[in-house]
Amino acid sequence: MSQVLFDYTRQDASGASCVAHAWAKVPEPLTPAQREERKARAAALLKQHDAVLVAHYYVDGDLQDLALETGGCVADSLEMARFGRDHHSKTLVVAGVRFMGESAKILSPDKRVLMPDLDATCSLDLGCPPDDFARFCDAHPDRKVVVYANTSAAVKARADWMVTSSCALAIVEHLKSQGEKILWAPDRHLGHYIQEQTGADMLMWKGECIVHDEFKGIELELMRKEHPDALVLVHPESPRSVVAQADVVGSTSQLLKAVIDGPEQTFIVATDNGILHRMRQLAPTKTLLEAPTAGNSATCKSCAHCPWMAMNALQGVINCLEQGYGEINVAEPVRTQAAGCIERMLDFVAKNPGALAQPQRGFVKNIGAA
Ligand code: SF4
Repeated sequence: MSQVLFDYTRQDASGASCVAHAWAKVPEPLTPAQREERKARAAALLKQHDAVLVAHYYVDGDLQDLALETGGCVADSLEMARFGRDHHSKTLVVAGVRFMGESAKILSPDKRVLMPDLDATCSLDLGCPPDDFARFCDAHPDRKVVVYANTSAAVKARADWMVTSSCALAIVEHLKSQGEKILWAPDRHLGHYIQEQTGADMLMWKGECIVHDEFKGIELELMRKEHPDALVLVHPESPRSVVAQADVVGSTSQLLKAVIDGPEQTFIVATDNGILHRMRQLAPTKTLLEAPTAGNSATCKSCAHCPWMAMNALQGVINCLEQGYGEINVAEPVRTQAAGCIERMLDFVAKNPGALAQPQRGFVKNIGAA
């Protein structure tokens, strides 16, 4: 088995896996007065409960602002995991999707981990059910199992290594240098990108992110022609036809850094548009264009924004702290088993700071988008 197809348009018994269900749970925009009132309430509750807010770049800008204003962090999944583990607070409020809350709990079993909405999940996690994945691993015992962070605790419990998009290249390079063959899951686009860059022997699971999978190579080519001076920034969960047109391929943190540090004035950004909030704050004079997700006649499930990330809201932070909703627990022995692959990654990154180096820049000429 190497492929699990998941229909995100159909609702399962819980509704959690359905894109339409997720969009239905996305709160209405707040008025300025409501925003200030809820931010103040959430900030007071964080203090009262000795809690810190750990937010992903893709969540609502209000949550990102609240995290930074209250001593928390806004980061990619690697930094979120490290920050939560090392922070002194007794409670972590994780604004992101479920696997991020699970990773926080796995690394900090003695802390209380809360999430604004436990239905916030991820198509990569949903598309890699633990039992099917275990059978896939059992069929290939000669391979090192490397899983992306966007997986359940049970899938991580079967893995030798966890990676994030910040350090995946360096870790696969390292394994290849040790003569290891790799079983990779679940994102096929990221897996193919890493395989092409490293030449490693990688057997792929075929999952995808519903947001990045929708970026369109042909439309991106047209956009590049309209903005020939723009630097193209692409997250490697995107399809090959999009990655092939990138000036910079990298994790959310690496793309953010490219905007801040780059001498260019205009950027085309192929990742979840939630990151534009932080990019605009840190590089207010730059012009940021969203990479296209659909042609004129097509529709998109995400339109460059993750519906599960969008479910996170200020009211959810208030609810989970006031009422104790949304607590994450990871049962033993899964927690201990899953901790092994995460800690291996964190140790590797700590010993190899170059593993997070900024990706090479280099414009890829008009290569065609097919
Ligand atoms: S943006 Fe994609 S990879 Fe990230 S949580 Fe949403 S579905 Fe998962």
